[in-house]
Amino acid sequence: MSDVVSYQCEDGIGVITIDNPPVNALGHAVRAGILEALDQGMADDSAQALMIIGGGRTFPAGADIREFGQTPKEPALPDVINRLEASDKILVAAVHGTALGGGMEITLGCDYRVALDSAKMGLPEVNLGLLPGAGGTQRLPRLIGARAALDAIVSGKPMKAAQLEKMGVVDHVVSGDLKSEALAYAKQLVADGAARRPVRDRDVEKESADVFSDYAQSIARKKRGFLAPFHCIKAVQAATELDFDAGLKRERELFTELLNSPQSAAQRHVFFAEREVAKVPGIAKDTAKREIKQVGIIGAGTMGGGIAMNFLNAGIPVRLLEMKQEALDKGVAIIRKNYEATAKKGRISSEQVEKCMALLDTTLSYDDLAEVDLVIEAVFENMKVKKEVFGTLDRVCKKGAILATNTSTLDVDEIARATSRAEDVIGMHFFSPANVMKLLENVRGEATSDEVIATVMDLSKRIGKVGVLVGVCYGFVGNRILHKRQSQAVSLVNQGATPAQVDKVLYDFGFPMGPFAMWDLAGLDVGYRIREGLRESDPANAPARNWLDELVEADRYGQKTQAGVFDYAEGDRTPKPSDVTAAEIEKYRAEQGIDTREVGDTEILERCLYVMVNEGARILEEGIAMRPLDIDIVWIYGYGFPVYQGGPMFWADQIGLDKVLAKIKQFYDETGHDDWKPSPLLEKLANEGKGFGDL
Ligand code: NAD
Repeated sequence: MSDVVSYQCEDGIGVITIDNPPVNALGHAVRAGILEALDQGMADDSAQALMIIGGGRTFPAGADIREFGQTPKEPALPDVINRLEASDKILVAAVHGTALGGGMEITLGCDYRVALDSAKMGLPEVNLGLLPGAGGTQRLPRLIGARAALDAIVSGKPMKAAQLEKMGVVDHVVSGDLKSEALAYAKQLVADGAARRPVRDRDVEKESADVFSDYAQSIARKKRGFLAPFHCIKAVQAATELDFDAGLKRERELFTELLNSPQSAAQRHVFFAEREVAKVPGIAKDTAKREIKQVGIIGAGTMGGGIAMNFLNAGIPVRLLEMKQEALDKGVAIIRKNYEATAKKGRISSEQVEKCMALLDTTLSYDDLAEVDLVIEAVFENMKVKKEVFGTLDRVCKKGAILATNTSTLDVDEIARATSRAEDVIGMHFFSPANVMKLLENVRGEATSDEVIATVMDLSKRIGKVGVLVGVCYGFVGNRILHKRQSQAVSLVNQGATPAQVDKVLYDFGFPMGPFAMWDLAGLDVGYRIREGLRESDPANAPARNWLDELVEADRYGQKTQAGVFDYAEGDRTPKPSDVTAAEIEKYRAEQGIDTREVGDTEILERCLYVMVNEGARILEEGIAMRPLDIDIVWIYGYGFPVYQGGPMFWADQIGLDKVLAKIKQFYDETGHDDWKPSPLLEKLANEGKGFGDL
């Protein structure tokens, strides 16, 4: 008898219970156990109907992902579900918790579905670059129609019990004790002489081919580059055009294509990596965490306001501090405006707006920060100002308060030394817009305590961010790598490419925009001010002037002035090539005596991405990032690296580090530029025939 699936006849109903904590994942033992229990139930004369239910906190929440990539072991889930569906007794699924993926597909193999009111069901396979491959794409359209099935399968979103009942997936929603309610329901079915009703026998409403091509069109922009959503559409279309068995076969073909695709491998990598970044090697899971009940934020500018919203959204009160009342008023007004804009789009209610705003209060006095549990500083990017702020915080804040800085470039250790409690100081580097971007680089200083790190990593999750722990260096992980890529982008243009060509290559790779459009979005003036600062403070090491400086001095700041590297029509963010920029580039090339040449797309991609890989490897050598997957997640959530490429380090492994290294060496030979000096770690891995994934 299986130890993860049991069978027992209760009151004339044969109950199959899946008990495989924590989430009843559908691993091999569970699949085999279900069939064993099914046979018992069918042979049990005292059972007039059968019921399948999850033990513990949920109905099966999906496949056992650990089995991905291993040789499949019989029985496969599609066969298990086909057998359930062929049972000669009425079969009722009793659902609580989250019946996701294969879990939901099991319920579709049953005749009737009962769900607890708190239950959720869904087919999230698309998020792993897959499609529901155990009959889900064939059965769901038969139950609720192709259009509703497309929404559920292509979005992958979980649905609530009430919604599922309305759609016709769930027959009966219950509250209280699921098992006794579902038993009563099954007994009633028996008493009523209810018939078996396998979903496979239902007719599916015919839809014209246009429905599917229109659907593909409607998601074309949002899902650009992804394979799985479009395969999902093809599979649902097959359900409307083929008989059930042929449809299942088509589903299997499409599923197998996805399973073997580099995209799904990348998306599965990202899925695991996102969970892994939360675990910090060397910091025990049970490390004590400090309670964060109230947060102080210093500076109500672009970042301070956005940062505040994250905490308000999570129900954590925020006290915002500024130097002047006008700045406070302006900051608070922007926060309100942002909330109201979201409410206008129907994404939150006006009550929620007021609830968030009620959690916000303001002050001009540092003394009012005496009792907060965490302070996040978001004042001007200036070491002197930051040191003053931290010196003051050290004086006023209670013992045990965490003191965080949102600096993008300054040395967190130097800031920490302005206090007498460096162990309580950490970087929390939010990305702009801070209320939207999911990435949070948490910067560990040399003295930051484990307790502070554990608290901040945990808090990141609480406020809906993906927190990645990084070390102190200029630009941390994300911007340090970005600088290298941007500098290649400029160099490619200097040599003969156009900004539009460079941008198109990276856009086609899957980035939401290219390097130059990104600059225009962030504002060319930001980098200009940093460069000018360096030219003043450290002229010997400051970057040489180039055509970007000329653009800024001609008041071309980017989108905000409707002119930057590209031109922008009013109210339109679409970049258009600019004659002014072309002339500045031409002038620069002439001044520098550059003989331009035709630059190919392959070279653009290789130079922009390989330089990132080399810098990523150096970051690993220096211990600034703990693992390659930390770099991947930073780039996916902070810079729009396409999920289906898996992040720069994963992507490099797919290319093969020997190939990447050979090109890097070639670029180094050609340019002698330090950025192309091969990272010893990269060389070592490539020489050993390994990848970053082997670290
Ligand atoms: P900002 O100029 O929009 O806002 C800074 C605010 O701080 C201003 O409102 C100013 O009045 C206030 N301020 C300055 N000194 C103060 C003091 N001593 N006490 C109280 N308030 C003070 O700047 P920002 O873009 O929000 O940047 C803030 C910080 O965040 C900087 O360290 C910056 O490097 C970092 N950062 C910015 C971005 C971005 O994209 N803007 C992204 C990540 C991190």
